[in-house]
Amino acid sequence: MNLEGVHHVTAITGNAPKNVEFYAGTLGLRLVKKTVNQDDPSVYHLFYADELGSAGSDITFFEYPGALPGRAGDGMVHRVVFRVASEASLDFWAERVGGERGERSLLFADPEGLALELIVDDSTDEPLTARHPEIPAEHAIRGFAGVRAYASSPERSAAFLRHLGFDAIDGGYDVAGDSRHGFYLYDTPPEAPGVPGGGTVHHVAWSSLLNEHDAWVDRVAAGGIRPTPVIDRFWFRSIYFREPSGVLFEIASIGPGFGVDEPMESLGESLVLPPRFEPLRAELEPILTPLPNPRAGW
Ligand code: ZN
Repeated sequence: MNLEGVHHVTAITGNAPKNVEFYAGTLGLRLVKKTVNQDDPSVYHLFYADELGSAGSDITFFEYPGALPGRAGDGMVHRVVFRVASEASLDFWAERVGGERGERSLLFADPEGLALELIVDDSTDEPLTARHPEIPAEHAIRGFAGVRAYASSPERSAAFLRHLGFDAIDGGYDVAGDSRHGFYLYDTPPEAPGVPGGGTVHHVAWSSLLNEHDAWVDRVAAGGIRPTPVIDRFWFRSIYFREPSGVLFEIASIGPGFGVDEPMESLGESLVLPPRFEPLRAELEPILTPLPNPRAGW
């Protein structure tokens, strides 16, 4: 039983319209689900992914309208790393988003300061891409490579992460399943403590096969950390816990998937509520910021 790399990364935005413009408009990801935060249904939860809404490509945002920019600190993910095909792709993206071009890497930030990196994909993992009229298919973002987190004493996490099946690599860990892998690297934190807010990561979710998801509760507990009970997020199932360095982890199932309640061709276009939130629709629709359909006029 192995984790199949990153499932999704969830961050915070203070400005949903601008967030859509950047992640769908500029980065060319597909807005695959426009819904509400199931723990606070008065705010959006936006999901951007590849064309099919695949686990492994899915960056999501809770919108707290007007939230001030936060700052990553000890025990927080501070950079999200995506795969692209080639050095030529990095050149294409440098032209499009600016940033700092390194060897096989481009480092830049979203409008609220969340650090993003594109690296040349040296894996054999399937590319998870969305289509966008301004982005040639060969340069499209291909899903996650991994994340980087701040930890002051990362050795505290070593035994637990190995218990979950993470393999030590230079600078941190890699976790690999049958079809996908992802890295989890540590960096020395800045002195200033982290401040949650716009442009900060809330949690990173790792992928489990749907039929193995329940068993991860026991696996995590056997490693000495008690996870939440399994929470049914409707499009996937989740458990949450903090790893010993303080980073909030989730283990989320691959499937049932975003197509269970919307046609695949119009994913993300209208506000979708899981059945237990449907009775709140009339209350929620007027308080949520109206968002453009990023594919209108294609
Ligand atoms: Zn999550």
